[in-house]
Amino acid sequence: MNDIGVPVSEGLAFNKAFVYRHSNIKVDHVAIDEKNIQREKDLYLNAKGELLEEYYRLLGSSLRDEKEILDAHVSFLSDPDFRDSIIDYIENHSHSALWAVEAAGNKLVALLEGSEDEYLRERGRELNDLKIRLMEKISGTSSTLLVEEDSIIVADYLLVSELLSSDVGKIKGIALDRGGKTSHIAILARAFNIPLVVGLIDLSSRCQSGERIIINGFDGTVITKVDKQEIANYKALLKERNKYLRELNKEASKPSITTDGRRIMIKANVEGLQGIDTAISSGADGVGLFRTEFIFLRKELLNDEMRREEIYEEASEKMEGVGDVIFRTLDIGGDKALDGMGDESGALTLGMRSIRFCMKNKDIFHRQLVSILKASKHKNTAIMFPMISSRDELKEVLSYFESVKDELREKGIEFDENIRVGTMIEVPSAAMTADLIAPLVDFMSVGTNDLIQFSIAVDRGKDTLSHLYEPLHPGVLRLLKRVVDAGAENNVRVAICGEMASEISYLPLLIGLGFDELSVSAHSILEAKRKVRSLSYLECKRLADAVLKRREISEIKKEISDFNERRA
Ligand code: PEP
Ligand code: MG
Repeated sequence: MNDIGVPVSEGLAFNKAFVYRHSNIKVDHVAIDEKNIQREKDLYLNAKGELLEEYYRLLGSSLRDEKEILDAHVSFLSDPDFRDSIIDYIENHSHSALWAVEAAGNKLVALLEGSEDEYLRERGRELNDLKIRLMEKISGTSSTLLVEEDSIIVADYLLVSELLSSDVGKIKGIALDRGGKTSHIAILARAFNIPLVVGLIDLSSRCQSGERIIINGFDGTVITKVDKQEIANYKALLKERNKYLRELNKEASKPSITTDGRRIMIKANVEGLQGIDTAISSGADGVGLFRTEFIFLRKELLNDEMRREEIYEEASEKMEGVGDVIFRTLDIGGDKALDGMGDESGALTLGMRSIRFCMKNKDIFHRQLVSILKASKHKNTAIMFPMISSRDELKEVLSYFESVKDELREKGIEFDENIRVGTMIEVPSAAMTADLIAPLVDFMSVGTNDLIQFSIAVDRGKDTLSHLYEPLHPGVLRLLKRVVDAGAENNVRVAICGEMASEISYLPLLIGLGFDELSVSAHSILEAKRKVRSLSYLECKRLADAVLKRREISEIKKEISDFNERRA
């Protein structure tokens, strides 16, 4: 049986399905019998005891900020008022343990979250997280993605934290009912080279764990109830794909220069050391975006500050002689929330995310800046700040960064005094004021994933809106042009590191707009370089001029597809 979804990470896989169900705790809102009151009270008290034990164990080995979250959970759990309220629901309102925790938790969460005080609202989010954990304990469910053998994960959705805490090497493919093309789960799947298809509606409720399925990350087909002919077709496709990749790999050392001599730097977007290896073997000109939050979100690294510091060092060291590594500071939040931030729904995408989170959590930010500065002694390290929305905000961040450098100088810790500093341009207000921002930095890098979602008001993580998420929207293209022009006027280099740059058919337009540095997902480097070598800059420029005069997306698309067809 064939399902057609949206292909978001290329590749083919044929394996057993592993259907992953989130702990969707179902609460029966039915009054319990009086004789069961003691049983329900015991259920609650035992779950509370087990959870407290777990927290005490974790507290022994955690860092300061995690300690704070754990401490908060412990104090909520031990709070006599919270306990009395739960017991009251069981004893006097005939609630089950699960229902009582839900009711008492929701009541208190609503009270805290409705407060004017940000501190209390934050406590509300923590309490909500604790409530879910307590309910999971009572119902004996948990939401950990445990992949025991090579499998294709089939799920309704997948969180970044779930993927990162699983055994990624065993995941051969992913098929999701929901998800968007530039969601972080898609970006990670591409980084790990795992084929991913999203938008499969209800596949996860129809598919059984153990049944063999085929997924095609090129055209979005997912086949269940696989027959012999489909297996034969899969094998033929795989053979063809492997041949194509072998040919492409032979071109790794060829530079990316257009037919009329314009050098276009093709850099890599990476999420960890694995990406650095791919970048080097594909002949990348550097790392244009190191998404540091992904090493932060890996469960095994969460408590390991030293290892994280080593990763920055190793990355810079490996890239010596190849190019710069641009470390983007933590872009935590949105669909990359930390456990306990309570934002798995994406509510923080426009909120306490990224640089805002860092400037509010200076202990975390400070440690990261120190680690990046230490790695900069290799002289090929640059730093970049995400989600900057104005010159004022950037100035504040830069001044904090300077104060951290001063501290290191005082302590005699070595770092690169000439470390290059850049900013991402991914908020429309920053793109509009790129001319005011440019003089403060050494480079700017456009994050189209967010820039598009914010300027068109379309959530990048939702496939139901994918028809509106349009990189070729004239409004987006005008913003891109504005940033390139601001860079040129201020002699500041402008790169593009959003997924738009990994879309090979858009390269002529981007090069024509004036971008001469594209940072693409590590597995797209070879194809991007090949495309650049086939293009003339002058023709690209003509294309961009024509596109900027077009008034409708359909006309722009036609202009671009005609251009690509003429040169195919
Ligand atoms: C972007 O927004 O385009 C970007 C590169 O950052 P991220 O995808 O990590 O949000
Ligand atoms: Mg972004």
